[in-house]
Parts: sequence; C-alpha cells; structure tokens
Amino acid sequence: MMGDMPTAIYPADSGDASGGENRGGDRSGGDTAALAAADVRHIVDPGGGLDEWLAQRRQPAWRAKAIRRWLFGRRAASFADMTDLSKDLRSLLEADFRIWTTAIARHSRADDGTEKLLLELRDGQRIECVLLRDGDRRTVCISSQVGCAMGCVFCASGLDGVIRNLTTGEILEQLLRLQLLLPAEERISHIVVMGMGEPLANLDRLLPALAVAQDPEGFGISQRRITVSTVGLPQAIDRLTAENPGYHLAVSLHAAEDQLRTRLVPVNKAIGLAEVMAAADRYWEASGRRLTFEYVLLGGVNDAPEDAQRLVRLLGRRAALVNVIPYNTVAGLPWREPSPGSQERFLEVLRHAGVNVQVRRRKGARIDAACGQLRRLDAQAR
Ligand code: SAH
Repeated sequence: MMGDMPTAIYPADSGDASGGENRGGDRSGGDTAALAAADVRHIVDPGGGLDEWLAQRRQPAWRAKAIRRWLFGRRAASFADMTDLSKDLRSLLEADFRIWTTAIARHSRADDGTEKLLLELRDGQRIECVLLRDGDRRTVCISSQVGCAMGCVFCASGLDGVIRNLTTGEILEQLLRLQLLLPAEERISHIVVMGMGEPLANLDRLLPALAVAQDPEGFGISQRRITVSTVGLPQAIDRLTAENPGYHLAVSLHAAEDQLRTRLVPVNKAIGLAEVMAAADRYWEASGRRLTFEYVLLGGVNDAPEDAQRLVRLLGRRAALVNVIPYNTVAGLPWREPSPGSQERFLEVLRHAGVNVQVRRRKGARIDAACGQLRRLDAQAR
C-alpha cells in the first residue's frame, strides 16, 4: 500500500497511462509510459532481445541462461562480475544492455526490519519499493506506475495523477534491487504488487515482469505467492482471467455500497460494485484461488458496524479473505485512522458472520512504508 490520492486528473485521450476502463489493461501500445526507457535495453527484460543479440554474435544459446543465472541466482551487480564470460563478451554486453537504470535516491530501514528504497528513474521520476521481513517471509512490495490515475481520495500515490507506466525492466529492477538487500542464503518469497500505481492499468508491462518473477530461471517465486492488488477494473480483470489466472488477486473495495465507494474511489462511478464483484467472481472461477478483498478503514467514514454489515451482505457466500487495513494517515489529507473501538466492532461484525478477516499490521510506518508517502515527502523537500 503505497500511497496515493485523488485528483481530478483523468487524461481523456488514449495512449496515456491512465488505465481508464475503456482501455482496461492498456493494449494501446502507444503510451507515454515507456518512452523514457525505450532506448535502454534492460538485460532482464524478456523483450530486450538478449537471445537474438547473442545469436547475432554467434554465441551459443545457453549463454543467455548463464547470464540470467548470474543475475537472478548469483546476484551479479555488474557484467564485470560474470567472470566465466569472456572479457570481450562482457564489454559488448556492457555497451548494449543495462542491469541498472535506476539509482537509489534513498534507503531507509525500520526497527522491524522493513526496508524501503526510493528509486530515481532515468527520467528523474521517483518510485518506491519495500522489503518486508515477517518470520520466514521476505515479501517485496513493488510499484507498477509513477503516480496513479485512480484517484482514491485517501491515498498519497495518486495525488498528482499518473505520470507514466513503468517498463518491464523497471518493474524487474525493483526485485533485483530488493534482492540485493538480502543475505545470500535468503530469497524473496512473496511479491505484492501494491506499490504505487494501478497494476491492471499497466498489464502489458507487468505480465512479462511477473513471468520472469515466477520463472525457475528467473526469481522462481511461485504464482500463488504473487499478489496483484487492483482498484477493480473489470475489463482488465477479465484479461488477467483469460491470460493467467494463477496469481493471487486482491480487490480494493473500501466500501460495500456504490455511493460511498464512488466518494472514496472515484473510478467506481463509471464501473459500479456489481461489475467489480462479477469480474472478481469470474477470476475466482478460473483460478480456484480464494480472492482477497481489501478494505482500508477510515475513521468515521466507512468503519461503522452498518458498513461491516453491508460488507457481509456484499460478500454473501463467497469464500473470500477480507484484508482490513487501518488507515495510515497522509500528511495534508483529512482522513483519520479508525479508533481502536470502532475497528474492533467492525471486525467483530465480520467475524461473527463467519467472514475470514485479516488485519494488516502496520510495518515500517516510521519510514512511511505506505508507499507514495516517501516519494511525496521527498518531492516536497526538494
Ligand atoms: N491500485 C492498487 C494498489 C494500491 S496500494 C489498488 O487500488 O489496490 C494497495 C492498497 O493500499 C490499496 O487497497 C490502497 O487503497 C491501500 N492504501 C493506499 N493508501 C493507503 C493509506 N494511506 N493507508 C492504508 N491503506 C492505503
């Protein structure tokens, strides 16, 4: 949950990164997104052409595999590290490919082991990604866009609208950077695409990145340990259902009736809860995996027992998990966290009705790990 917020910025033309439902899933190809990085061939991007490049240089095909092993398994930080490749090949690779296109603008670490990176992209834009340590779990939270177009009124990431989509290489680079924070004997175990941006508005670039994440020759993280969190764009959910329903899908509800949801999640106006739930059900039918619904509790706004009862009715007989997230306040925004009493009453209604509930513990709050927040603070300070 990396920040975000609202705004009236809904680019109306096509070819942007706004992810409006008419483009759900962004097949247009011509978005502003990738342009800053289009001239860079990222070594880990499956579309970067490494195999062809090697073939043109009469290199055996297995070299691509060896290079990937260096990157993902052996955590090479430079081509120079790849000591079993010839010097010539290393310098040719160095000339045509990049391992790093980002710079670490800030690295913070909280007492609970949470680490957060603020990354500066080639065009000067900044994104955040986070490593969470919880028992054996090493979960990373990654961003999919710079900014966000969804306009959820309580969120820091969308306060200034969306700036662009991340490229596949930039999405993967977050994983490479976070992996380097771990000691050699530890691996990333889980991925949540809950950082800045709406992942389903950038599926064209996200899906190839997640394919590498799950590839045994990539990061080797099983699909069910990869969670994609969406504001709920039905067309894009349907595309995911058709292309790969293996990921864990989390749908951000935040309200169980349309009027309130539209107030909190403005894109709901043109979509409506019924459509969101129907698309989520289709995903569930195809995947057989339990869905998660996220519900950010905002004090005095959506945290009354009646709100919980409405949620119980909306979920009906679905075997879903409800992830209740106490609001993490954002400087400058009027929303508050729920009082402990109202949070408890809200949870009690859900539990009493037999709903599976999980309360997301706050991790890394001191380092503003609700993403979008660090980026904003940084922008304000500059
Ligand atoms: N666009 C995706 C990913 C957003 S971040 C989505 O909407 O799901 C993941 C979750 O964090 C979302 O449910 C989002 O609403 C929530 N979130 C955003 N800002 C928050 C904040 N300040 N406190 C608590 N949760 C927040």
